[in-house]
Amino acid sequence: MFSGHTIRVQRLNEGFVELCFDREKSSINKLDAQTLDELTKAIAAITDAADVRGVLVRSAKDSFIVGADITEFPKLFTLPEEQVVAFAKRGQVLMNALEDLPVPTVAAIEGFALGGGFEVALACDLRVMSSSAQVGFPEVKLGLLPGYGRTVRMARLAGNAMALEWITTGDSQKGAAAQAAGVVSDVVGADELVATALDVLKRAASGAIDWRQARSRKLGAVADACAEAVEKARERVKKAGANKHQPAAETIVDLLANAADAPRDVALELEAQAFARLAKTQAADSLVQIFLNEQLVKKKAKEQSKQAHPLRQAAVLGAGIMGGGIAYTSAVRGTRVLLKDIQPQQLEAGVGEAKKLLAKQVSTGRLEQKRADEILQSIKPQLDYNGFENVDIVVEAVVENLKIKHTALSEVERLVRPDSIIASNTSSLRIDDLAKPLSRPENFLGMHFFNPVPVMPLVEVIRGSKTSSEAVAAVVGYAVAMGKTPIVVKDGPGFLVNRILTPYMLAFMQLVREGVDFVRIDQVMEGFGWPMGPAYLNDVIGMDTGTHVFDVICDGFPQRLRRPPNDAVQLMKEKGRLGQKNGVGFYKYEKDPAGKPKKSVDPDSYTLLASVQQSAGQSITDQEIIDRMMLPMMVEAAWCLQEQVVETPHELDMALLLGLGCPRYLGGALKYADWLGLERVVALSDRYAEFGEHYRVPPSLREKAAQAGSYYSR
Ligand code: NAD
Repeated sequence: MFSGHTIRVQRLNEGFVELCFDREKSSINKLDAQTLDELTKAIAAITDAADVRGVLVRSAKDSFIVGADITEFPKLFTLPEEQVVAFAKRGQVLMNALEDLPVPTVAAIEGFALGGGFEVALACDLRVMSSSAQVGFPEVKLGLLPGYGRTVRMARLAGNAMALEWITTGDSQKGAAAQAAGVVSDVVGADELVATALDVLKRAASGAIDWRQARSRKLGAVADACAEAVEKARERVKKAGANKHQPAAETIVDLLANAADAPRDVALELEAQAFARLAKTQAADSLVQIFLNEQLVKKKAKEQSKQAHPLRQAAVLGAGIMGGGIAYTSAVRGTRVLLKDIQPQQLEAGVGEAKKLLAKQVSTGRLEQKRADEILQSIKPQLDYNGFENVDIVVEAVVENLKIKHTALSEVERLVRPDSIIASNTSSLRIDDLAKPLSRPENFLGMHFFNPVPVMPLVEVIRGSKTSSEAVAAVVGYAVAMGKTPIVVKDGPGFLVNRILTPYMLAFMQLVREGVDFVRIDQVMEGFGWPMGPAYLNDVIGMDTGTHVFDVICDGFPQRLRRPPNDAVQLMKEKGRLGQKNGVGFYKYEKDPAGKPKKSVDPDSYTLLASVQQSAGQSITDQEIIDRMMLPMMVEAAWCLQEQVVETPHELDMALLLGLGCPRYLGGALKYADWLGLERVVALSDRYAEFGEHYRVPPSLREKAAQAGSYYSR
C-alpha cells in the first residue's frame, strides 16, 4: 500500500494492515523529517483504502522508534519562535491523523519507544509492550518538553499525577510501570509481541474491545487533574534543581496544570506554544548540543580504542589520594592492578579506602559481597616491583616533583616490557619534560585524572611531542574501560582544563583586589549556575595546590597570564589558610554531624584581605562580575582551540563540563560564546582590556566574529 525508505504499509489477512517502521541501511528507527514525511503518506494511503479494518503499528528492528533525530534540532531552534510553533503543530496534525483514523490502531512496542517514538504509540488506540521494552519522555533532559501532543495524550491516559512524574523526570519506564499507569494494555514476552498485538487489534475490530472508548479518553479534559499532584510536582522539580536557567521542568508543570480542563485542540495549542518557548531557551540550545557532543566524544574514543589492544594488567605507582583512586577504579571495572608505594601506611590507606567504597556498594545492594571480594583481590598492594615485567600499563601518581618523578619513571621503564605504556597523572608538569630521561618516549604520555577519581568522569589524555598514536589509542581504551570519558589534548602548560580555569581565577583575584567581597562573587557566580563560586573552589582545591598550578600556567604564558600583585590566593597560602584541608581558607570549615565540612564566613578573612584591597569595587554590578569572570574563560578556550590543544570545540566544551562542572545550561565556554554572539564577546573583552592581557582575544576569534561566525555549525 505504501513503501518508503523508513516505512512500509502492507496488507495482512482479513482486512488488517501493518504500518511497519523499517529504516533502510540502519539498525534503528528514528522520527526524523523523512520519517514524518513518509508517515503522512502512509496514513493517507490507509485513509484512502476503503476496506481496512484495523492497523497494526510495529517496527522491523529491535527497537520500536528510539526518538527524534536530535541532529535536526540545532537548526530548527535558530528559527523564529512562531516557526518553531508551526513545526510543533505540523507534528501534532500528523499524530492527530494517526489518532483519528476511522479504524482501530494498536502499537506493538519492542526495545525503545522514547520521545517522538513513544508519541507514535500514544497516538494509537491501544498499546502492547514487550517485557524488555522501555518507554518514556526524555525531552526534559534536553531542556524541552514532549511536543506533537504527547503531554496531552499522556495526561489523558494516565492522569496528571503520573504524567507529571514521567514527563518532568524524563526517566524511561518498563512494562509493569506502563501497565500500572494505564498506557499499555498488555505486557508480553518479545516473541509473543506481534501476535498479541494483532490479537488485540482483531478483538478491537470485532467489538470485543471498546477501542472508541479508549480513543475518546484522549480527546476531552483530563479525568484526574489533581491540583495536589501539580503542587507536589512543583516542589519536586524545584528540589531537583529547576531554576531560571533550566526552566523546562517548571514549564511542563505549568502546561499540564493549565491544559488539564481543555479539550484536545486547545491543549495541543498550549503545548505547541510552550514547546517553542523552551526550544528558544539557552538551556535547550546547550543541552541539545551537549547531547550531540557526548555522542561525538564517545564515538571518537570508540574508534580510537578499536585500533589498540586492550590493556589487561595495570600498575599504579604511588598509593596516595590519586593513585588509590585510580587503582580502585581500574579494579572495579575489571582491570587488575598492582599498587606500589614506598610507604606501607600509604598502601594500607589506599586499600582501606577501596574497602570502604566497596563495602558501601555492598550495603546499598549495588554489589554482591563475592564480587566485592574479587575486586579487592585484584588490587595487589606492594612495596617492591614484583610483577612489573608483566604489566601493560603503569600509571605514575607519585608526588608532584620533577626530580622524584624522573627517578620513578626511569626506574619503572627499565623494569617493564618494551611495549608497556607509562602514563603520568601529573597535574602541572609538561609531558615532554617528564619524558626527558626516558629511552622510549613514544610509549609515554599523560593521563590526567581529576579528584576524586571514582567520581570525576574526565580523563585528559596528554600527547607528548614524541608519544605514539598507538600509545594514545591504548590509553584512550583503558580510560573507557575504567568508565571514564577520555579527551585527547596536546602537551602544554596546564593542558586544557586547568589552563582554562586559570584566567578565570585571575579575574577573581583581580576583583577581590579591587575590593569586591569574595562572598558576593561566590553568590553571583553560584546564582549564575556554577556549583561553587571561585573563593569556595579555591578552598576545595587547596591554596598550596592552586597557587602552584596557577604559577606553572602563568609561567607558561608570561605575555598573557599574570597574577595580580599580592593576590588573595597567595596571601591565604602565606598565612597558612590552605582551605578545606586545614579547616580555614577564604571560609572557615567545621565538620557537620555527617563528617562533611560545612563552611561559614570568617571575619578574619576580611581583615586579612583588607590589607591588599583597593576600595573601588563596591559599585560593580552583578552582570559585570559575571562578564569579568567568564570572558577570560571564553578567551582562553579560544586560544586553546586556535593552538589545537584539543581538536574540536565539542571536546573542549565537554572537558569543561566534566572537569570543572561548568553549568550545563551554558554548554561550555565556546557554546556560551556562541550564545552571546562572538561579536559581543570580542566587544566586551576589548572593553575590559585595561584589566589585563587575559582579556585579549586570539586572532582566530576576532576573525570569526568579523565574519559573523560561530564555533558550532548552525
Ligand atoms: P599524594 O601525596 O597523596 O600521594 C603520593 C604518593 O606517592 C604517596 O603515597 C607517596 O608515598 C608515594 N610515592 C612517592 N614517591 C614514590 C615512589 N618513588 N614510588 C612509589 N610511590 C611513591 O599525592 P596525590 O594528591 O595523590 O598526587 C599524585 C599525583 O597526582 C601528583 O602528580 C599530582 O599532581 C597529581 N594530581 C593530583 C590531584 C589532586 O587533586 N590531588 C589531581 C590531579 C592530579
